[in-house]
Amino acid sequence: VVERLVVVGGDAGGMGAISAARKGKPDLEVVAFERGSWTSYSACGIPYLVGGEVDAIDDLVARSPEEHRRAGIDVRLRHEVTAIDLERGEVEVRDLDSDVTTREGYDHLMLGLGGVPVRPDLPGIDLPFVHGVQTLDDAAALLEQAGPRTDRVVVVGGGYIGLEMAEAFVRRGSAVVLVERSDQVMATFDPDLAVMVAEALRRFGVEVRLGCDVTGFEEGAVLTVDGPIPADLVVLGIGVAPNSALAGAAGLDLGVKDAIRVDARQATSAERVWAAGDCCESRHLVSGAPVHIALGTVANKQAKVAGRNIGGVHAEFPGVLGTAISRICSTEVARTGLGSAEAREAGFDLAVATVETTTRARYLPDTAPMTVRLIAECGTGRVLGAQIIGGPGAAKRIDTCAAAITAGMTAQDVVDLDLAYAPPFSGVWDPVQVAAREVLKVV
Ligand SMILES: Cc1cc2nc3c(=O)[nH]c(=O)nc-3n(C[C@H](O)[C@H](O)[C@H](O)COP(=O)(O)OP(=O)(O)OC[C@H]3O[C@@H](n4cnc5c(N)ncnc54)[C@H](O)[C@@H]3O)c2cc1C
Repeated sequence: VVERLVVVGGDAGGMGAISAARKGKPDLEVVAFERGSWTSYSACGIPYLVGGEVDAIDDLVARSPEEHRRAGIDVRLRHEVTAIDLERGEVEVRDLDSDVTTREGYDHLMLGLGGVPVRPDLPGIDLPFVHGVQTLDDAAALLEQAGPRTDRVVVVGGGYIGLEMAEAFVRRGSAVVLVERSDQVMATFDPDLAVMVAEALRRFGVEVRLGCDVTGFEEGAVLTVDGPIPADLVVLGIGVAPNSALAGAAGLDLGVKDAIRVDARQATSAERVWAAGDCCESRHLVSGAPVHIALGTVANKQAKVAGRNIGGVHAEFPGVLGTAISRICSTEVARTGLGSAEAREAGFDLAVATVETTTRARYLPDTAPMTVRLIAECGTGRVLGAQIIGGPGAAKRIDTCAAAITAGMTAQDVVDLDLAYAPPFSGVWDPVQVAAREVLKVV
């Protein structure tokens, strides 16, 4: 009997499961519903499209609907799944163009519903000049309104998406104000390092207003506790919530932040229903706690795991460290594992070292400063987290830290690693090892 896989969501979390599923079950019939107009795209590229480093929206598409169809997948664009009937194994689907609703049966259901930009319930939030950025459709709407040039842009929220969008609009020639309610940007960074990120933004020309609460929006302005800020366009960068309402309404268990609860196989609480990506939970590899971390890296890996299980092969997703990297103007930033406050909250006694070093040998002309913070457990020396800020070449070194944490390595293990060196790449001690040596002094 040929089994039928129904995929909801046409990006990484949904489509990423298909090839792995078919490997185990080559005859699997696959139909994929996407309410937007694109499939398998890089939302991560949106800031570079807006900033003009990428020419066209289609450049961000890794696999078009036609390519998926050629691979035998029945892709239906502008089709929104509006309900899931777990008992009958059916979904209700609305064709957004004809407004006709049909029901489709499944043997396996793959939910890659993604996330939704957080939209605070403030007066004027639904005005057309207030934009969230999550999908390519959002990017298309934003670009259409921005036109060739927008004079005044206000970005609300200082997470990495807000920061990348602020940079993008400066590159387009706009005057950009970034408004953040808390007293730091990048909440996942330790506060003193986040200060350096805010400074980088200011150097690039972004006006950063910290501790400034937005109270509403009206045509031409963002209203804040400190008074109105003129704006032709507003971008929300307040965070991403799991798009889990459909799953919750169907009776699937939801977990942390209302993300869809999944086990290590990416199985939801219902038989033959799977979830991956921004719509579902992950487990933190250090704290062991369930977390909602919306990253493309996680979505792709979880989808593969779900796909293998759908294909009849047992597979498990080990968990996440929240390893993330971003370029804010010419400053690179990255983090992995637990931050200092998070680690203390999780009950660890900490040994923390922060070193100022350089991206290359000090004597080379284009070497740039970089800061590495390494967080370890007192006594054992086990590495728990790391944060890096610096010039070109600095941030990707976070991967050494992520690998060390995943392997359960201590600061001494990191010092002992046989890492590569030549003057154009680092000092003779890699910057991460310089930090590990400092940690050993306080561990
Ligand atoms: C501006 C920006 C920059 C980013 N940069 C990075 C980065 O540098 N690195 C990184 O790792 N991650 C980054 N991310 C995060 C990354 O893009 C997401 O984690 C990833 O796209 C998640 O994939 P997903 O398939 O779970 O969700 P999505 O990409 O959101 O896809 C979900 C899809 O499901 C569709 N859908 C939802 N509900 C329905 C329904 N009921 N019926 C039919 N279709 C539906 C949506 O239209 C959407 O196309 C960035 C995100 C943004 C927005």
